[in-house]
Amino acid sequence: MLSERFDAFLLDLDGVVYLGDELVAGSREALNQLRKAGKEVRFLTNDPRPTREQLRRHLVGMGVEVDPEELVTSGWATANYLAQEALRSAYVIGSRGLASEIEARGVEVIDRGSCEAVVVGCDEHVSYTHLRQASRHVFEGARFVATNADASFPSRKGPLPGTGAIVEALRVTTDQNPVVIGKPFAAMFDSALRNLDAERGRTVMIGDSLKSDIVGAHRAGISGVLIRREDGPPSFDQAPPALEATVRDLGCLFDPTAASVERGRSTTRNTMGEEL
Ligand SMILES: [Mg+2]
Repeated sequence: MLSERFDAFLLDLDGVVYLGDELVAGSREALNQLRKAGKEVRFLTNDPRPTREQLRRHLVGMGVEVDPEELVTSGWATANYLAQEALRSAYVIGSRGLASEIEARGVEVIDRGSCEAVVVGCDEHVSYTHLRQASRHVFEGARFVATNADASFPSRKGPLPGTGAIVEALRVTTDQNPVVIGKPFAAMFDSALRNLDAERGRTVMIGDSLKSDIVGAHRAGISGVLIRREDGPPSFDQAPPALEATVRDLGCLFDPTAASVERGRSTTRNTMGEEL
């Protein structure tokens, strides 16, 4: 069983544990089984908007109990990065939640005056004035930091502009590349892995994005398991070596017949053990 191969599980939230405001079927039961088996669990999201406490409440509202220490948002990981790099002040394009995570790490969030970093997160109220001010700070030497680089995020009416769209506006204006924190980049995984007891060889990232979750796992030196709900044979032409298995849902972690391994001839099964 896949669950036996690992002691620590990093779980992507969106698309794996929940979809918007609804839990993915079977995810709560799978989480309970992981807990019962004494596994370490971390929940990762590139959404920089909520604080970890807000995210905890969101999960509790869906019937999933978590400790805030188990939550790793790109906003919190960004705050960790700023503190670690001894950047003492930041101009923030992003939510109130992002600003408060940054402040909680002792970094001053400024509105006026100079600053040592510009942080770009997802902000539905971003304006030309914000971009003008942020680019001025970058021109004056502030470190350009992006919480994540996702170009869009899903909604019921189709993809909406994500953090990456705002980052790109600043990137082309300043002709500087940002330090990106969120998956698949290292800082997010550093934040997720730093308090785990499990060895890297016994740690797995489980996510529904090859580009973000599995590539990130590969870069962090841990295994990856891809959740893939679509039917049809998966193509592994471009999969990084970290990809350990492809499964249909979290329940497959406990199914002795599910999963699959060999690159190039993987088999995908659902929780009933049926080959897909
Ligand atoms: Mg996802």
